[in-house]
Amino acid sequence: MTAHTPLRSIDALIARGLADPAGRAALDAVAARYAVAVTPAMAGLIDPADPADPIARQFVPTARELEAAPQERADPIGDAAHSPVEGVVHRYPDRALLKLVHACPVYCRFCFRREMVGPGGDALTGDRLEAALAYLAAHPEIWEVIMTGGDPLILSPRRIRAVTARLAAIAHIKVARWHSRVPMVQPERITAEFARALRVPGKASYIAIHANHPREFTGEARLALARLADAGHVLISQSVLLKGVNADPDTLAALMRAFVENRVKPYYLHHPDLAPGTGHFRLSLDEGQALVKSLRGHLSGLCQPTYILDIPGGAGKVPVGPSYLSGCEMPGAEAAVEDRLGVSHAYPPPGGETPR
Ligand SMILES: *Cc1c(COP(=O)(O)O)cnc(C)c1O
Ligand code: SF4
Repeated sequence: MTAHTPLRSIDALIARGLADPAGRAALDAVAARYAVAVTPAMAGLIDPADPADPIARQFVPTARELEAAPQERADPIGDAAHSPVEGVVHRYPDRALLKLVHACPVYCRFCFRREMVGPGGDALTGDRLEAALAYLAAHPEIWEVIMTGGDPLILSPRRIRAVTARLAAIAHIKVARWHSRVPMVQPERITAEFARALRVPGKASYIAIHANHPREFTGEARLALARLADAGHVLISQSVLLKGVNADPDTLAALMRAFVENRVKPYYLHHPDLAPGTGHFRLSLDEGQALVKSLRGHLSGLCQPTYILDIPGGAGKVPVGPSYLSGCEMPGAEAAVEDRLGVSHAYPPPGGETPR
């Protein structure tokens, strides 16, 4: 093994000083259940002397993952119920997920699809890919295709072109969107040629960049993002609000600014899903709203993500605040609106009096 090989076992993590040999039995039990991989780029960011390292917390397994809680679910957002054909999840009429692969370059310890992702399992190819494409082609209401997995950017440019060429031929698809962690965790993959291969000819192209901590924005990652933006993709962000990683005002602000500085428009900040063994990452919705409010107080409007809850069971994603409006008792006022300093202001109904 060299410094350029992903760490894929507890032994490899112990050898790099990233896991404690005393905990090996529990960690082996975790690894038997959930896939493990830490890319060299991410391993290199971890300070092994810091027991609370936010990068380690995202990727290095811990015994706490064995503590499943009753409210947790193997399929937290109910993908299975909305999958008409293997590889497609069609929950909202105008857009569908196309899951091209089950594997990822890293395995996040909080992953909402942790029971589904891993190095085993085939990529969607051959007849199964044909059936998925046939579904997309047969549903003219599908305006956007969202390519995800696993992480679709682990595919070779040749495999990617085989899919993009087929999507290009489906006239009702106007928008192609990729979701990926590769630009941050394996940035060396994103060459200019690779960035071009991700364009679906004739369609608007978006890439949702998954990052959770400002430290992930290494020089290499910044270059990867620049190559994607220069190749004509619109870059948007996706992060998960995670206790012990980014759930404090300064880290969250630095993360959102790092996105914007690298031409990535903050899009979604996800409340953590009820994936098994992830209780140590979860915070309350109240705590999440307070953090999101702290951003609105002092960061550019460009740096504001939407705070999203994917309702357990499959009802879909909804923004969960914070809200700046409340009912108002004052005569002639429809609502009270709170400003960034917490001061309340009455707002009149249409045609109503402006209260003083
Ligand atoms: C998250 C998700 C989408 C995308 O939702 P947006 O709000 O458009 O980002 C689409 N389909 C499914 C099944 C999803 O889970
Ligand atoms: S990259 Fe995404 S799909 Fe893969 S383990 Fe991480 S959160 Fe899950």
